[in-house]
Amino acid sequence: MKWINVIAALLGCCWIMPAAEARPKLGVIVVIDQFRSIDVERWADVWGPDGFGGLMGKGAAHYDAIYAYSATETGPGHATIGTGAQPSAHGIVSNRWFVGREQVYAAFDPKGAIVGFPERPGRGPAQLRAGTLGDSMRAESGGHTKVVSLSVKDRAAILTAGFAANLVLWYDPIVGRYVTSMAYGAKLPDWAERLAVELPAHAHKNAEWNPLPIDPKWKKLLPDDSHTGEAQVYGLDDQFPHSLRDLTKEEEKRAAYPIVPTSTDDLVTFALSAVDHAELGKDDVPDLLIVSISSLDYVGHIFGPDSVEGFDSLRRADLALRTLVNGLESRLGKDGFVLALTGDHGSTPLVERVQAAGINANRVDADHLVRVAEDALNGVLGASGTTGARVLGFMPPHLYLDLSGIDESRAARALEEMRGSIEAIAGIAATYLPGVIRADEDAYGTIVRGALSAGRHGQLLVRQKPRTVFYWGGDARGTDHGTPYRYDRTVPLYVLGPGVRGGRYAAQVDPVDLTATLAFLLGVQAPDSCSGRPVGAVGAEAR
Ligand SMILES: [Zn+2]
Repeated sequence: MKWINVIAALLGCCWIMPAAEARPKLGVIVVIDQFRSIDVERWADVWGPDGFGGLMGKGAAHYDAIYAYSATETGPGHATIGTGAQPSAHGIVSNRWFVGREQVYAAFDPKGAIVGFPERPGRGPAQLRAGTLGDSMRAESGGHTKVVSLSVKDRAAILTAGFAANLVLWYDPIVGRYVTSMAYGAKLPDWAERLAVELPAHAHKNAEWNPLPIDPKWKKLLPDDSHTGEAQVYGLDDQFPHSLRDLTKEEEKRAAYPIVPTSTDDLVTFALSAVDHAELGKDDVPDLLIVSISSLDYVGHIFGPDSVEGFDSLRRADLALRTLVNGLESRLGKDGFVLALTGDHGSTPLVERVQAAGINANRVDADHLVRVAEDALNGVLGASGTTGARVLGFMPPHLYLDLSGIDESRAARALEEMRGSIEAIAGIAATYLPGVIRADEDAYGTIVRGALSAGRHGQLLVRQKPRTVFYWGGDARGTDHGTPYRYDRTVPLYVLGPGVRGGRYAAQVDPVDLTATLAFLLGVQAPDSCSGRPVGAVGAEAR
């Protein structure tokens, strides 16, 4: 018996740490953007026992990983995964928020000029209020831990990576290549610079997306390829094929790249190249690799998660993960790494498809909601005059207001008037004040208040009815996420590697537990603000 196990047994611990020499030397976090538990479950026949890189069969599979807040967006989700903390601690309450009258993007960093493209807005971790697992590993190892983070989306790569990562790359659809910022270094390594340009350039020219063959027995669960409510963007039709090759405008090719599965394959190529060139997992100091796959989110927003495109995107992500896991196994051995997979949020089924089934579902014009709110405030307070609108913006659930200079009792009266007007809009269920809990409040208040952080949350929080999707700019198509309902908050959480007892786990977990689990398995310090706990599948039971 190892000494550490003897101590654990003497102390009567419930769990025994894996022996130090058995610990893997690479932690891998994979996030699938807009990844719903239900899609993995209902298509279980499609994946088979080796689905999602073997995680479903060999790993610990948690069906019920639930976010604690309704602001289920990419920024908050990735920050939660990276830090193992809730938004109150990591500060990412939405993808965008207001400070005073100024809108702030979650990955905006005034010191993060884009390398080679200084005219583009700065990107980096400046908005994070908590350190990540990568930061903690770098701090504890005196900088010997290497952290690499890759995604098509800037906020996904950055907010999961944190402050001290060695290499952070994302795709910029305006310049049409992968980039980094001065927040992470003045120059990309040569191998990364080459891939950053070549991979998307090849896809812009050649990528053609046709669906994999669909077994007739699966077809009844799928809608027609072209369904009412699906959107058409960047020159792409609402049905297959979706080919960058056939687009004529360069800006459309650049904008459409994140949608097609080639972008996911490119991330895997990048990730395995990073393992080779940065020598991840090769020495005694554990390293961290983060890959966030974005294509499912774009596809979900445009066509709906339950579309033919959504189904094919999942299958492509499954294949890409198999390539990643096989590539890691061939380089590091089966016991050389531990991999955790989750999603940053779920999504709402396509409204028109739900309505066709006779179930209530709505689309609500968010611009109308903002006008109603502004009119209600002005009805009590008088016109706002030259100071500009009193409603600054709506980033569900946050409604941002500027009531500065108005005395407290008048402001409170205007706020109550506005609440009544908003709650009267069809599709709106309730509103909540961030700091005041009414005695007769419903049970959603706690979840809707789950993404508050000082100075960044809205002055009012709005909850729509189930299967209600907001739209902006008059474009009432596609779908969204960002509600307190289970379809938006429930994601899978898988863990694969030495020290993990494979199987299906019914216990409810929170995505913050992913970070704590990886820290436990790697034998490293969990992040400063981590509130998660290692999942029960890791560590042996006490003898
Ligand atoms: Zn997302």
